[in-house]
Amino acid sequence: MPIDATRAYDDSNIFARILRGEISAKRVYEDEFALAFHDIAPQAPVHILVIPKRAYVSWDDFSSRASDGEIAGFVRAVGHVAREHGLVEPGYRLLANVGGHGGQEVPHLHVHLFGGQPLGPMLSR
Ligand code: AMP
Repeated sequence: MPIDATRAYDDSNIFARILRGEISAKRVYEDEFALAFHDIAPQAPVHILVIPKRAYVSWDDFSSRASDGEIAGFVRAVGHVAREHGLVEPGYRLLANVGGHGGQEVPHLHVHLFGGQPLGPMLSR
């Protein structure tokens, strides 16, 4: 079920639990601002999620409340992970679902990194 991106942060969401180390994930990168791990149900040969370390429900929440340093750190982490996985030369897709119409299911901001093959049209037709 897509979430309501305007609601308060829920500390029990699955990515909060991954951040706290309560459940495992295939981690590929971590720094002060971000954690990256493989999506549990990959939709492309490379499907990595990058999440901010602090509690933000969505891109909307992050872009309105995060500090400039957190935003810069997070954006740089996403770029770093893409480079580290060799995605730049062949190309890749970045996606953040927000709220109901976006189909966001986990209420902690995450950016999807897709790659490893031609990804087709941006939206299904
Ligand atoms: P979204 O629809 O943008 O909220 O995407 C949520 C994503 O989280 C989906 O692609 C799920 O496959 C992924 N996901 C859910 N639970 C886990 C988990 N425990 N570890 C890694 N990825 C997960």
